[in-house]
Amino acid sequence: MPLIIFSNSTKKYAKRMAEEYDNCTLKNVNDIKSPILGGTKHKTVFGIGGGKVIDYAKIYAVPNRAIAIPTTAAGAASTSHAVYWDTKKKKLNIPTKKPIVLINKKYINLSNEMAKMTSYDALAHALDSYWSKKATKASKILSIKAFEMVKNQIINNYPDKVELIKAGNIAGEAIEITKTNMTHAISYPLTAFYNIPHGLAAGMAIKPSAKHQKCELNIPDIDIKLKGIKKDNEFIETIAKEAMTYSKIQDGNYSITLEELIKLLRENL
Ligand SMILES: [Zn+2]
Repeated sequence: MPLIIFSNSTKKYAKRMAEEYDNCTLKNVNDIKSPILGGTKHKTVFGIGGGKVIDYAKIYAVPNRAIAIPTTAAGAASTSHAVYWDTKKKKLNIPTKKPIVLINKKYINLSNEMAKMTSYDALAHALDSYWSKKATKASKILSIKAFEMVKNQIINNYPDKVELIKAGNIAGEAIEITKTNMTHAISYPLTAFYNIPHGLAAGMAIKPSAKHQKCELNIPDIDIKLKGIKKDNEFIETIAKEAMTYSKIQDGNYSITLEELIKLLRENL
């Protein structure tokens, strides 16, 4: 009798899965205010969905491994920690077990709009890992492979969504070694203060980060148009100041000061 965590977009798959078990419990991730570490009597916890669903499944499954069925390229199925926002709008990192991953074509149904968002996140994972000061030979191989695979999907307008999800998981393996750094530190305040979804926020942070990290890879152009947000001084300074509170911003090959970050964001965000 497993617990199955799902989201609105994977509800129908979760219901289909539930038919295969007796006494299954279904939980919509949107109904969980804050996930409880090891907070279930179920020995088996499935997470079917994007990064948040899988991270929550990982948290509930502790001390066991969750079973992750990823439907986006967030890469959460490849890492042994889970992230979630606390009440003070801070991103928290919780150690968990690395889940068992099942990539199943029959559960993958990404719209091009969703594919775009999740591909930017996967690209940001590959790049953060690539220019990380903690990069190893193994992480470099993974990050370059993920980068090439995601890039191929972006420039060809997502011909193979299963391939995109696989690429996201490889990028996840790369950040399992190095953790994320600059793009993610910049993306968090974009999400916390301006409600920009994580994939888009990470995508916006790629250009300034790549410039500062002197990245020589040929990164695809990412053009994100935001409605209703003015990129004025207040916006830039809010993002920069909050981004500096995440120590990971210094974990790329090149560290940065607040003044440099404000200038960088003014010119590249
Ligand atoms: Zn991310």
